[in-house]
Amino acid sequence: MSPASDRITNFIAGSWRPGRDRLDIFNPSDLDTLAGSYSLAGADDVAEAVAAARGAQPQWRAATVEQRSLVLDAISRALFDRKDELALIAATEGGKTIPDALGEITRAAHLARFFAAEALRAPGETLGSVRPGVEVDVTREPVGVIGLVTPWNFPVATPMWKIAPALAFGNAVIWKPSEKTPGISIAVTRLIAEALEAHGMPAALFNLVIGAGPNVGAAVVDAVDAVSFTGSVNTGRRIAVRCAERMIRVQLELGGQNPLVVLGDADPERAAEIGVNSAYFHAGQRCTATGRFIVEDSIHDAFVAAMTERMAALRVGHALQPETQIGPVIDEFQLTKNLQYIDTGLKEGARLASGGGRLDRPTRGWFLAPTLFTETGNAMTINREEVFGPVASVIRVKDYEEALHVANDTDYGLSSGIITNSMKHARHFQANIQAGMTMLNLPTAGVDYHVPFGGRKMSSYGPREQGRSAIEFYTIIKTAYRAL
Ligand code: NAD
Repeated sequence: MSPASDRITNFIAGSWRPGRDRLDIFNPSDLDTLAGSYSLAGADDVAEAVAAARGAQPQWRAATVEQRSLVLDAISRALFDRKDELALIAATEGGKTIPDALGEITRAAHLARFFAAEALRAPGETLGSVRPGVEVDVTREPVGVIGLVTPWNFPVATPMWKIAPALAFGNAVIWKPSEKTPGISIAVTRLIAEALEAHGMPAALFNLVIGAGPNVGAAVVDAVDAVSFTGSVNTGRRIAVRCAERMIRVQLELGGQNPLVVLGDADPERAAEIGVNSAYFHAGQRCTATGRFIVEDSIHDAFVAAMTERMAALRVGHALQPETQIGPVIDEFQLTKNLQYIDTGLKEGARLASGGGRLDRPTRGWFLAPTLFTETGNAMTINREEVFGPVASVIRVKDYEEALHVANDTDYGLSSGIITNSMKHARHFQANIQAGMTMLNLPTAGVDYHVPFGGRKMSSYGPREQGRSAIEFYTIIKTAYRAL
């Protein structure tokens, strides 16, 4: 059965199934258009999906590396071929602009290609004789059935940086995407199932269960051999505790409160160009978006002036209109949460330099004006917590040393950056910032797939994702000794 009719939306044990409760998704750009009507899986569907995945995985494990590579290659090609169709779905249900969505899907296609190549590497090493008469092999085996629990803000690329290595290294997958972006998850699952079937592999290797986190997500976590999760800290913590109880491996990519330091020697116009990109694109709904601009006193006023001038020119509106640069936030819940943070910022004494409220547009979507606070302190709630929207603050500091101290004074440690022409400060920052990723004269958001992705402190837990590091999570090492 193909997901031709609405509401046949879960892919379990190689076939498309209806779920139970109905889920309607409305376009966040206009609130009137029904983006899709879906149905939610239940905990028993998860049990069936896991059993089917377990049954199919030995055949996949036994497949040659070429067969696995070819499947990933087919997934990559399908993503490239269908990128326009996929981008339209992502824009309609998730509020991404078409160029943003196309960029994300292209990245996902490249990711699948990267792991098509990784699948070809013979994993493991032979150490030869470590003591007289004994040889040792160190080999890598698939983990088994992996549960992937993913958020809505990058509904193709984030899942793909888990799906591709999971499959490349011989695992089966249960995917629980965000219930806010079911349509794009279905489209991606369809092309994965087609790629598996076209290469004679059981489609039951890949299962899609759409449902609410606390029941369907939790059921996945309770049934699989490993969990890779991207989402909020609170959910991640809950999942990690559950995985610890079951003694299974877990990988978490969580939130951020990413600092971008602007030093006095920087060009304020260039800094503002980087700053606007870093904080506001995709309505700030990027885990690597800048939340705190930490700005040296000598450039503070020029930087704020350049930022507000650029922000005033940003075109916020319907995601499908070609002139739009920034679409809506995903839903009413996020809009309300963002507005509450703005209110808290004002109550704690921050000043609004730009934005601060909902925007009226002809189509009444969840549009929030890109917002910049000034006169903020690092202890304020807006600077301690992750706002996850188009809201950022400026923190004024007297010099580089104070900037570094403030940048590190956070519970998070995902991305970070510095804008300066001073190699001395740039190198010192790179060595001393407590973050998984750091940028020089670049936005804090915007990363490549060939290299490891992850954070420190409360931003990440477990081995790194992407690049060649991905193998660590998706394989288990076996050390084999042989007496000769
Ligand atoms: P979320 O934590 O609410 O949900 C993420 C996923 O977890 C969803 O699929 C949800 O249904 C599921 N879930 C919720 N409760 C669950 C439970 N008890 N058990 C199992 N699954 C459960 O996050 P969100 O609102 O979808 O996404 C936004 C968050 O994701 C932000 O905090 C953002 O920073 C973070 N994020 C992090 C990265 C990263 O790589 N570090 C990337 C993108 C987004």
